[in-house]
Amino acid sequence: MAKKDQSQENNLLKDIIAHAKEYGFVYPSSEIYDGLQAVYDYGPYGVELKNNLKKVWWESMTRLHENIVGIDAAIFMHPTTWKASGHVDSFNDPMVDNKDSKKRYRADVLIEEKAAQYENAGDIDRAKSLLSAMGRLMEAEDFAALRDLLINEEISCPVSGTTNWTEIRQFNLMFSTQVGSVADESSTIYLRPETAQGIFVNFLNVQKTARMKVPFGIAQIGKAFRNEIVARQFIFRMREFEQMEMQYFVRPGSELEWYKTWADTRIKWHEALGIPAEKLRRHDHEKLAHYANAALDIEYEFPFGYKEVEGIHSRTDFDLKSHQEYSKKKQQYFDPEINQNYIPYVIETSIGADRLFLMTLCNAYVDEEVDGKQRTYLKFHPALAPVKAAILPLTKKDGLPEKAREIVEALKYDFNLIYEDAASIGKRYTRQDLIGTPFCIAVDHQTLEDNTVTIRHRDTTEQERLPIAELHSRLSEACSFRNIFKQLV
Ligand code: ATP
Repeated sequence: MAKKDQSQENNLLKDIIAHAKEYGFVYPSSEIYDGLQAVYDYGPYGVELKNNLKKVWWESMTRLHENIVGIDAAIFMHPTTWKASGHVDSFNDPMVDNKDSKKRYRADVLIEEKAAQYENAGDIDRAKSLLSAMGRLMEAEDFAALRDLLINEEISCPVSGTTNWTEIRQFNLMFSTQVGSVADESSTIYLRPETAQGIFVNFLNVQKTARMKVPFGIAQIGKAFRNEIVARQFIFRMREFEQMEMQYFVRPGSELEWYKTWADTRIKWHEALGIPAEKLRRHDHEKLAHYANAALDIEYEFPFGYKEVEGIHSRTDFDLKSHQEYSKKKQQYFDPEINQNYIPYVIETSIGADRLFLMTLCNAYVDEEVDGKQRTYLKFHPALAPVKAAILPLTKKDGLPEKAREIVEALKYDFNLIYEDAASIGKRYTRQDLIGTPFCIAVDHQTLEDNTVTIRHRDTTEQERLPIAELHSRLSEACSFRNIFKQLV
């Protein structure tokens, strides 16, 4: 990316962050105390949008697939869980400080950014060889050589501009805390760094109680916590965030086929939510995590470049096997079709609700000039929009508010609405544009005569006249998840 483009893109992110705060989507956590780094709160429209995103994920997993069921596991888990999963020993990121600026970075992120620069400049081979060199060194845990790579590639600190790097150290990302009143080592527990382990330890409970047959999936939405070394880019990288994960248990040997199926299914899902195909790309992992035999990221072109939104991992039988070893409880499935016992292999789809939120917001944000006037609006898919319709009486008198209230009563059980009668109609339209409300329904004097209203469409600003009796079906048609689901099957 050229320098000028980059600063334009950074300004775009700044605008989106400011918009999110000003219009009730996302606030810095405990802001009156100057905030807490990498922790954010969702405001009135943010929580609606996030809930809609979680709901569309949940339903597309558990409703559209007969063989996927959900659970809701606790955040706290037996500490041995994290020994068995490998998180105690290897959930680390390589941390490096610049001696001049005293700023801290993740060495792998610095190298990935350099590779992205090569790629943007058209030097794909150089980008690839840099990433594979990094993959090899990380795998071998050769941090001295990783530091040399930083220096040889002239990767400098964005603040000081120097390559005066400290040694690279491993940093474990798990938060720990104590349970009970005696603070000895045996009472140390962790805040889960991923939701997946809650699914693995419940694999047999779910398989037996819901009478599932392989292949089947378990879906879960819940909080996860990571003590990220560098927390920048708004809600892209948080220390407390929410994951939506689905583990799909398959017969050993069939996992790579399922891996491909799930990668395709998930990309299609993002497109169905309104993300343009050209803004999405697949990135196959050079460096595989200790549990995986194939992995890719689905990346979105954020204002700060292509970054991961979702991970698809073929996790082999690593987790169940390891839990079997540590718990000494068999984690096997009897497959009646082939008359065999085995530990299933697992394909995981893992997406952060907050990253999905950020992608949705970035994709929806439009700031354009129309006829010499600046117009900002959020073009959310109507099924995802926080508010579906605003009911707006043209004036506060002549019985118009009463008529508008009748419409609210008729629609409020099925749609999230806003009723507003203050300020000019133009100003009220603008306010709805800024929070992405797809429809504004104006009640005027003609409404009292013939029971029709005007409905204004957010993206085109066009208005049409419609009988009140048709509003419910119009909104249902536009705002139903069905529009998204139809594209998935
Ligand atoms: P990264 O390389 O960006 O640190 P990761 O590869 O460690 O991410 P996973 O462990 O695969 O991420 O997590 C799955 C998903 O959870 C990610 O695709 C992302 O959407 C979300 N996620 C992970 N870490 C965070 C975080 N700190 N803040 C917000 N979302 C996150």
